[in-house]
Amino acid sequence: MKDTLQKFMVENAPVRGELVEISATWQQVLARHNYPVAVKTLLGEMLSAAALLSANLKFNGVIVMQIYGDGPVKLLVVECDSDLRLRATAKMSEGAEVADDATLTELVNVNDEGRFAITLDPKDKMPGQQAYQGIVPLDGDTVATVIENYMLRSEQLDTKLWLAADDKVSRGVLLQKLPTEGGKEGGKIAPEEELETWNRLSMLGNTLRSEELLSTDIDTLMHRLFWEETIRVFDPQHPEFYCSCSREKVGNMLKMLGQAEVEDALASQEKLGINCDFCGQHYEFDAVDCAQLFIAETPADAAPHTDTRH
Ligand SMILES: [Zn+2]
Repeated sequence: MKDTLQKFMVENAPVRGELVEISATWQQVLARHNYPVAVKTLLGEMLSAAALLSANLKFNGVIVMQIYGDGPVKLLVVECDSDLRLRATAKMSEGAEVADDATLTELVNVNDEGRFAITLDPKDKMPGQQAYQGIVPLDGDTVATVIENYMLRSEQLDTKLWLAADDKVSRGVLLQKLPTEGGKEGGKIAPEEELETWNRLSMLGNTLRSEELLSTDIDTLMHRLFWEETIRVFDPQHPEFYCSCSREKVGNMLKMLGQAEVEDALASQEKLGINCDFCGQHYEFDAVDCAQLFIAETPADAAPHTDTRH
């Protein structure tokens, strides 16, 4: 079965939502890594969250969701583009041991110095245009709460998230209260009634336990949560795994390290081997490859948008 993201609108209230179910993609993320159980749970929840936010924000580009940890987990990264193509990876501290039921705080916020970041990297950047990044403290016991707080601050939208993941599947539900068109002529629904619907749906969502999310497909979840409402569903979308790594990008990374550093590394080995953290793809750069990287580096960089140097 394909991984699926299902968007919907509640007809009788300004509430929209999404359900997502990611299994095949998640298996590809996990295939090359052996993360502790609690890290799988957290990374899996971030995977669903990134897909839900990407579809919700309708941003044309890549959404990068990161947690910088100060505990046994140093870094968690999930990327999702506007076609819902995902990749994810986690970095542990050396020799770190993690209990199966470790909490978010125990994993990444031991000294209250963990950070959560969302970067919006536009697809076709204008010259000089930069990615937008928002970084916030990890103010919450779960990644869902952290994102809810983030969305309230950055988008001024009431957003509710329920997430769960194990080593087979990652599932998530997002609900969002849209701004009401206050004072609009002919508005059929009283504000109190709208608020009541939002509160009722949020409370229903709050009854969702992880076990239920993990064991129930999204069609059944949709029915269980929203059978009382009139729901308009949109065409389902299909998240999938995709890694955007390339030889050129690895080369650029080596350039950033600098010629001295790269030559140092080459002194002790014939060639540099670099594995992509996301997909495991192996790249090799020998002395000639490395030399070429730095020959291409000309002082003409001050005018990088002319074709003359090609
Ligand atoms: Zn890769």
